[in-house]
Amino acid sequence: MVLLSFKVKTVPSCSIFTIKSNIYMNIASPITSQEIEFAPETIFIEESVSDHPLTLDTIRRFPNTPIQRNITYSDAVQMIQKNSSDVFGMGKRKLFLTRFKGSFLKKCPGISPGMVCCNYYVVNLLKNCTYDCSYCFLQDFLHNNPLLVAYVNIEDLISELDQVFRTYPERTFRVGTGELTDSLALDTVIPYSQQLIPFFNKQKNAVLELKTKSNRVENLLRQDSANNVIVSWSLNPQIVISREEKGTPSLKQRLEAAHLCANKGYKIGIHLDPIIIFQDWEKHYYELINSIFKVLSPAQIEWVSLGSFRYRNSLKKIIKERHKNNQLFTGEHVVSKDGKHRYLRPLRNQAYEKIRNFLKKISTDLNVYICMETKEVWEGVTGKMPRSDKKLDKFFDL
Ligand code: SF4
Repeated sequence: MVLLSFKVKTVPSCSIFTIKSNIYMNIASPITSQEIEFAPETIFIEESVSDHPLTLDTIRRFPNTPIQRNITYSDAVQMIQKNSSDVFGMGKRKLFLTRFKGSFLKKCPGISPGMVCCNYYVVNLLKNCTYDCSYCFLQDFLHNNPLLVAYVNIEDLISELDQVFRTYPERTFRVGTGELTDSLALDTVIPYSQQLIPFFNKQKNAVLELKTKSNRVENLLRQDSANNVIVSWSLNPQIVISREEKGTPSLKQRLEAAHLCANKGYKIGIHLDPIIIFQDWEKHYYELINSIFKVLSPAQIEWVSLGSFRYRNSLKKIIKERHKNNQLFTGEHVVSKDGKHRYLRPLRNQAYEKIRNFLKKISTDLNVYICMETKEVWEGVTGKMPRSDKKLDKFFDL
């Protein structure tokens, strides 16, 4: 597979900027303190965005939060390094507002040697996450860049996407915002969705995926249209959520949010990822699947993706330091071709097969795919490669 990079000039458009300013005026006012769960301990503002409407909108929401203006990223990181032994944990609570320079749109970097990837495009408006899952790869990936970063120049993103979608009308773009963050955890703090959704509603060849563990769907429910937008939930049995997904809404809260979005007309995706194998895992995943279909019908679900727990060696050390009570390393793991450790292949195959069978018993029409796995596992579990399945082909379309 070939990594595709778009060299698109990101010229801020005056007209987009003017319209956007009005949108900000609308969205700043109705948020109540109850709706905002996350409040940053400090807001750092880089000089180039000090007057940006989204910066002004964000600081207006937090009148009591200390603000450090005209500060560089490295100076902000140095400040928190002096004051904490858990710099990554503290970085999640400090919001750094800045401008993204360069092209936002890139091919999902999940493509790695020997792996079949749920191939799509990503854009990063946020870096890091307010939640603190024990298995989160960001702990390793952002080890030296721990701040919660928000790129406020969303007008540049929309201008870039518009140009790319027009340049390649024959392609279908599936674009996700949840590669380096949770797509919705901060949506009542920095409501990117209010600009992304109306833009994607109008596209003929593009779909937006908002991937989340949150229940912050207020802004989604206020939209006029759900066209071309998939909201996908990462789910695990409640026992795993309680133990390994700190700060995240419960399974019940996530499913309620999914139910509301489905009724609003959004397409729903389900990620059972990472699947964690522990004592009685089958029973817990069986119950999880039953809970999903108590609130959603198979027809409302666009796909279910499965992925097993995986990690690099460098992440294991961090997990053990930061999450003393985790139960991720109880079984045996082996290194795969991409350098990541996974459960032994027969164990992974068994977990995928069981869960896939639970799902297919609910409805044979469900699209179930396996993310970030070897060809051998794909073929072992499904009997075929994704390109030979017409239903799945659209997800793997290059
Ligand atoms: S929700 Fe996702 S991005 Fe956030 S901490 Fe958990 S795994 Fe990481």
